[in-house]
Amino acid sequence: MEAVLNYPVIIVHGGAWYIRDRDVEGHTAGCREAALVGWELLKGGAPAVDAVEAAVRVLEDNPAYDAGRGSYLNSAGRVQLDAIVMDGRTLDFGAVAAVERIRNPVSLARLVMERSEHRFVVGAGAEALAESYGVPLCDPDDLLGRINEGSWSPPRYRIVTDPTAEGGLIHAAVDPPDLTVVQGAGDTVGAVALDVSERLAVATSTGGTPDKWPGRVGDSPLVGCGAYADDTAGAAAATGVGEALMRIVTSKTAVDMMAEGLAAQEAADAVIGKLWERVRGYGGVILIDRRGRVGLAHNTPNLAYAYVLPGQSVVAGVARETRISAPGRAEGLAAVRGLDGRGRVTAD
Ligand code: ASP
Repeated sequence: MEAVLNYPVIIVHGGAWYIRDRDVEGHTAGCREAALVGWELLKGGAPAVDAVEAAVRVLEDNPAYDAGRGSYLNSAGRVQLDAIVMDGRTLDFGAVAAVERIRNPVSLARLVMERSEHRFVVGAGAEALAESYGVPLCDPDDLLGRINEGSWSPPRYRIVTDPTAEGGLIHAAVDPPDLTVVQGAGDTVGAVALDVSERLAVATSTGGTPDKWPGRVGDSPLVGCGAYADDTAGAAAATGVGEALMRIVTSKTAVDMMAEGLAAQEAADAVIGKLWERVRGYGGVILIDRRGRVGLAHNTPNLAYAYVLPGQSVVAGVARETRISAPGRAEGLAAVRGLDGRGRVTAD
């Protein structure tokens, strides 16, 4: 097996949708903070699974993102949360879905993995399991974030796609019509880490898509779809339209590509290319390959991210696509990070 180039390494994302100019700073800062919290743990020798859980908790607690507090409302006006954590050494994972009274679903997912006899528990049963482990249940209103804190009232909207449209291809159907409201929405979060013992782990957490049907679950908590980690190949976290991401089992597909020898950035490009080619899906991925190289790609307008490689300071930003002309190629990254126009973030 080829030598590992970098460790420890962490990369996080804060979702792959529109991020308004005025929100770029906040989304970037949130990702930077989460990556640094995970990085400190990794530097101290903590396992990758600790780092991804801690990083995702930071993002869940930040109401700017569609995870934990501040998540989108479903069509019944409630927040329903999904999360997964996966350990690449054992291929073990834990996941929860459609929970309404859990502040940090990623930590409950970890308890499911480490303490329960099951691996995926949903709804009231997951909340009862949390109670049995001494995790306090929160008031569902505690998850409302901005809605709770100010005069902002929840709009009713859905994100729809129109592959025939010129330009951005993503349209927001809003009632009442107000694109800026949609563009101000938060997003799903994820983290991938490689620790000093060369173990990989991944975690993903989401409130799902806006105005989703109650009980609807997307890719995020599904093993292989929203997340996958295998120490022998790489690890991936996905975000975007769950109904499409599930169809190509996005994260496992990306890990399989790395197992076949693609570097993290090549696999990121390839899997987002496949998402578009096969199912006309929109999304983004973050990856770490077996050698400790990071990659990210998206075919949505934005992807908030941050990563830390050994010996380098944290890199954070909001990747941009003004026009979705080459799915899988984060062309706007050059402007954001001063790299080449292909958005490459590999370490070598
Ligand atoms: N993938 C998530 C879902 O479909 C949403 C997102 O990543 O924005 O629930």
